[in-house]
Amino acid sequence: MKKHNFNAGPSILPKVAIENTAKAILDFNGIGMSILEISHRSKDFQAVIDEAVSLFKELMEIPEGYQVLFLGGGASLQFCMIPFNLLNKKAAYLETGVWAKKANKEAKLFGEVDIVASSADKNFSYIPKNYQVPADADYFHITTNNTIYGTEIRYDIDSPVNLIADMSSDIMSRKVDVSKYALIYGGAQKNLGPAGVTFIIVREDILGKVERQIPTMLDYRTHIKEGSMFNTPPVLPIYTILETLKWIKSLGGISVIEKMNIEKSDLLYNAIDNSKMFEGPAAKDSRSLMNICFVMKEEYKDKEDAFMEFAKQRGMIGIKGHRSVGGFRASTYNALPIESVQALVDCMHDFEKENA
Ligand SMILES: *Cc1c(COP(=O)(O)O)cnc(C)c1O
Repeated sequence: MKKHNFNAGPSILPKVAIENTAKAILDFNGIGMSILEISHRSKDFQAVIDEAVSLFKELMEIPEGYQVLFLGGGASLQFCMIPFNLLNKKAAYLETGVWAKKANKEAKLFGEVDIVASSADKNFSYIPKNYQVPADADYFHITTNNTIYGTEIRYDIDSPVNLIADMSSDIMSRKVDVSKYALIYGGAQKNLGPAGVTFIIVREDILGKVERQIPTMLDYRTHIKEGSMFNTPPVLPIYTILETLKWIKSLGGISVIEKMNIEKSDLLYNAIDNSKMFEGPAAKDSRSLMNICFVMKEEYKDKEDAFMEFAKQRGMIGIKGHRSVGGFRASTYNALPIESVQALVDCMHDFEKENA
């Protein structure tokens, strides 16, 4: 039976990226060796990382003055690297979910943290508006997509101070004006590649402005100077990222991907909004294109397990909602085909016919 992969992360990747990675594991570039058994400093791998950086810049239209890095440690290491490198006295954070909270917790180790707004009062079901970012903050940190709650900041914020964004789960899902950001980062394993590599887009002029000593491995300048090769980088995940970037380019770039993502999410949100049984917990003006959460309405709550089983029989994978929201979550990342969304919508309709 066909599987429909709605996993939240690690998650679905373009088939061609997986196939080409498999080939490179068996015989890389026809050199008679696996990509797993050659030096990261070989010219064959150098060409991979160079092309990945240059395609990243091309697809996201990254202006001059920014560097693209591929490091280890996940988005979670960035939660501490960011304040280590950039927080002198005070930083501002928007608190829109668990990942945002984890980020601001680390910052508190380095200075004062101003939580400018939080949606914790309603279980992070909306994106706060009308908050003030203090002009004397060293930076303002946001989480553009809240993977667990299915909310997203789908616009580029005008920030009076350096804007920093965790884009782990919506990178390259929509057009972003990179010039509005000082630093963008994320784990690759939601939309770009396998687990094990973190992407960072950083404007160089923000670095070198803190007093404290920074350990070599945690200093962005080290990795810029060494082209992400101060130590051995995550070679294979970087290769898969390159293949994913080529796939995005072959489709026509991020604006085409964005159109596809809007179509997919409209299809599912319409089904939820017109449903007798299901409803979406996220505020309509804050809904994510990437993680679509839905629950059973109060009067049907006892049917959740039955729907889960029904959906499983139809090949739906990974639709269990995060424990802090409950219900269901369909992650509709770039590589998920619209046919899978249609299959889920059909599944919801058929279940409703039998049970509502
Ligand atoms: C998954 C996720 C993370 C955690 O990423 P790791 O690479 O596992 O550290 C952080 N932020 C957001 C928004 C995420 O979705």
